[in-house]
Amino acid sequence: MKFIGAHVSAEGGVENTPAAAISIGADAFALFTKNQKRWVAKPLTEKNISLFKDNMQKFGLRSDMVLPHDSYLINLGSPKEDGLIKSREAFIEEMNRCSQLGLKYLNFHPGSHLKEISDEECLKTIAESINIAHKSVKDVIAVIENTAGQGSNTGSRFEQIAYIIDHVDDKSRVGVCIDTCHAYSAGYDLATEEGYKKAFEDFDRVIGRNYLMAIHLNDSKKELGSRVDRHDSLGKGTLGIDFFKRFMNDPRFDNMPIVLETPDDAIWKAEIEWLKSLVW
Ligand SMILES: [Zn+2]
Ligand SMILES: [Zn+2]
Repeated sequence: MKFIGAHVSAEGGVENTPAAAISIGADAFALFTKNQKRWVAKPLTEKNISLFKDNMQKFGLRSDMVLPHDSYLINLGSPKEDGLIKSREAFIEEMNRCSQLGLKYLNFHPGSHLKEISDEECLKTIAESINIAHKSVKDVIAVIENTAGQGSNTGSRFEQIAYIIDHVDDKSRVGVCIDTCHAYSAGYDLATEEGYKKAFEDFDRVIGRNYLMAIHLNDSKKELGSRVDRHDSLGKGTLGIDFFKRFMNDPRFDNMPIVLETPDDAIWKAEIEWLKSLVW
């Protein structure tokens, strides 16, 4: 079975996200556990935490179908010492928040070399950041998201993600989220039947199927290999309808959070219904 939802708003408190998910017919969702554009946040209160857990239960949502996303400010591969320290502290803080909420994952964009260090050095720094976070927080899985390869972002190639995982000590607490828009923009041709087959075979060979923990399901506004990160509504972009048909009938993506980050939140409910209608 597929568990599908969207990145819902945590307006008014994280405890409101389960209801927001239910209102769009979702059984999976993503959220920011703090303001994603700020470094500091008020700690979660006992009330936030207990209400969140109560609401999860009330609506019959599974904690392993929730994929929290970290702040956009964090760069775990930063070449700048102060930026790296700040990022590592903030990442640990976010992992703690996930743990407090009883959530299993923390999804993040690997990092950027800012054209100051090599790709390899950046990837090693990211792995070390994950190792440090693992030592501070006992029970959350760090979920690396593939990127479109925009600017100086690393992590657009499966080889780069595999390199990070290779350098993580506790491999039971690292995983991967594939963003379909990013993969296409990075040059993985998910739009054709042949390209789709090859991309996921590549994933299995280079990274390993057991590391795949979640999906960001987005169409793309840009062409194959553009290295530009612009999400489109499902079936409206360059990935096209056939891709979503193939995806929805592919059992490899059962039993993991599938999260829409499509631009028009007014149609999320309709997009989820449409996806379900594609199942043969
Ligand atoms: Zn994404
Ligand atoms: Zn994106």
